[in-house]
Amino acid sequence: MDNLYTIEHARMLDRNDPLGHFRQGFVIKDPSIVYLDGNSLGRLPEKTVEFMENTIREQWGEGLIRSWNEGWYNQSVRLGKKIAQIIGAHPDEVIISDSTSVNLYKLAFGALKAREGRTEIISDDMNFPSDLYILQGLIGQFGGNHTLRLLKSPDGISSDMTELVRMVSHSTALVSLSHVAYKSAYMYDMERVTELAHMHDALVLWDLSHSVGAVPVSLNRVGVDLAVGCTYKYLNGGPGSPAFLYVRRELQEQLENPIQGWFGEQNPFEFNLHYRESEGIRKFLTGTPPVISISGLEPALDMILEAGIGSIRQKSVAQSEYLLSLSKEWLLGRGFRAGSPGFAEKRGSHISLKHAEGYRICKALADPGVGECVVIPDFREPNNIRLGISPLYTTYEDIFRAMAKLKEIIGGKLYENYPSTREQVT
Ligand SMILES: *Cc1c(COP(=O)(O)O)cnc(C)c1O
Repeated sequence: MDNLYTIEHARMLDRNDPLGHFRQGFVIKDPSIVYLDGNSLGRLPEKTVEFMENTIREQWGEGLIRSWNEGWYNQSVRLGKKIAQIIGAHPDEVIISDSTSVNLYKLAFGALKAREGRTEIISDDMNFPSDLYILQGLIGQFGGNHTLRLLKSPDGISSDMTELVRMVSHSTALVSLSHVAYKSAYMYDMERVTELAHMHDALVLWDLSHSVGAVPVSLNRVGVDLAVGCTYKYLNGGPGSPAFLYVRRELQEQLENPIQGWFGEQNPFEFNLHYRESEGIRKFLTGTPPVISISGLEPALDMILEAGIGSIRQKSVAQSEYLLSLSKEWLLGRGFRAGSPGFAEKRGSHISLKHAEGYRICKALADPGVGECVVIPDFREPNNIRLGISPLYTTYEDIFRAMAKLKEIIGGKLYENYPSTREQVT
């Protein structure tokens, strides 16, 4: 009989995986390295190397400044349309621009201005700190009359919807949350929260950094006002690749961009001395876009569109359930606790396992003895071992080997050989 807890079983699952062939589209020099950090920095698609090299050698090297008219100027809009398809938005509602933090600033500013007189911003204590910093800074810049109210998670893993219902009121200007929480992978019911905000005529701004490319999102169907997200996680855009922003059509005219720059102007090359905002989504741009970086985005977006976000989600759920069943068999109760919701519909595409020695365990995974299997997870304070599943290239065998390694590390207390001093980037 087929034993679920063997590498043969994992290999059988890989053979039957309809998305399995996408892995060949990525640069994987050493297939023995188990990479479970695609939720922090996605892998490099083979074609991205070609695309970026073409941008550098031909478009920049030969085309020189002429290349602005041969694609560069429209790149942020053109690729925004591809992201729109992935998040269920109209093509004229999404644009590539700046970083997620800066985009959040721009849209949250617009929202507060559009809801002048209202004094509350609602977020939660599981949100990505940068998002909270941005909101805190805005409050000061708006004169200090707003309060940032944070929904408290009862367990650090999930959110209490009943409490959120109590918090949102006619004083709420903006509800700003991460759709999928970066530590626990808790996923909000986007529709319920959006409806709740709208019931009180508040605006809603979703940070999709940990959902875009991994879970289906339908911004139009749900009626979402505003969204931002990152492209170097499940969208595999590379380190520091620019982010995107979404503004619902009906709000584009009304919402103000706090950083008026020439790329948001009606016609930057008229060099008008007085700013006239551009029509549509372009008005949310500010300065010259990072052309080389943006050019690296396209191959991965195309792969995601080809695979289909529904199939990607299906595989992500199957792989998450597989990982959880191995952890139940080998890890839970031996110092490990679940750090993510148990139900797939409440979870994004990574699984956190908590262990008091989490940091040193991560070290032992990533930096084992010579000749041993290297597993790259990431660590999030104070005790989360985060295992990211990126279905376009994560295999069942990867998951099997990571979990077997964790079992070995715990069994032999191998983490005791590692220091617990933190590195600069974890
Ligand atoms: C990764 C991430 C970001 C990244 O922000 P940058 O400004 O692009 O560095 C923002 N928000 C969330 C929720 C994230 O997960």
